Amino acid sequence: MATDFHKDDLELIPESELDETSILSSLARLQLMHASLRQLRETVPKVMDSMFIDSRSPDQLHAHFSQTAIGAAKDIKSFAQLIEESKSKDALNRAKESRANDGEGITAWRVSEHADWLDVKKEDATEDSVMDTNNEELDTSAGDLTLADMQAIFEKFKASQMGVEADLDEDTRTVKIFLPSPTNTHFEVRPTAAPGGQNTYTVHSVEKTKLHGKIIEAIASHSTGMGLYSLLEMLVAYKDFKSRPCVKCSRLLDPNAQFPVVRSKRRLKQANGLYLNQWDAFHLSCI
Ligand SMILES: [Zn+2]
Repeated sequence: MATDFHKDDLELIPESELDETSILSSLARLQLMHASLRQLRETVPKVMDSMFIDSRSPDQLHAHFSQTAIGAAKDIKSFAQLIEESKSKDALNRAKESRANDGEGITAWRVSEHADWLDVKKEDATEDSVMDTNNEELDTSAGDLTLADMQAIFEKFKASQMGVEADLDEDTRTVKIFLPSPTNTHFEVRPTAAPGGQNTYTVHSVEKTKLHGKIIEAIASHSTGMGLYSLLEMLVAYKDFKSRPCVKCSRLLDPNAQFPVVRSKRRLKQANGLYLNQWDAFHLSCI
């Protein structure tokens, strides 16, 4: 082992695994931090812009401005949290240490050489959320969905989404997912009877705010034909919906002060040949 970084954890990990998984994960984390920092540059102009949008009344102007300011404060808070997380500190320490040990050939990074740098890859791509071909077959199988099918899909989902609070109620065949604060949403997913055809699902949220209504609508219109596994992944992708900017316009709030309520799947092929689902956020107005 070349470094004593993370010494307790790393002594048991073979060097090859450290090179592959750990370095890729650190790189993804650094990219996420860099992209988040870059997006903060637009935070203050966004708040200022919100004051110059035509408003019908002072109340409307005030409401719009307040909402934008709250969104900006959340952006800043989530960036601060990201930087404070131990995984971020580890990644930065690791980069610093690696540079100190062998800094030769490390030059200044130029955005012009990496046009796609804002496409943040999902962290830990080699460990989590990897969907193999079996999952895909399971997911798209047509016909009557048995309870055993649901259990199998649910178990794979649980295994890939460590830390997500989720339950399968076998009596009502309902998958329940809870996304904690700041999202604070209880999703419920039920299969819709479709004998012989493609399985479909309905999604509800226990919370009935206007924003939840918009999310449920966006889920319904963007999950047509989707299998249960992908649908559950999609719901988890709402866990940061009050802080994840739209990939199209890079803003958290659109000109109508709406959050990006759509989650759209992008399949990324990994070096190991397996696929990873990445869920991009979009405003309804940006699709
Ligand atoms: Zn947008």
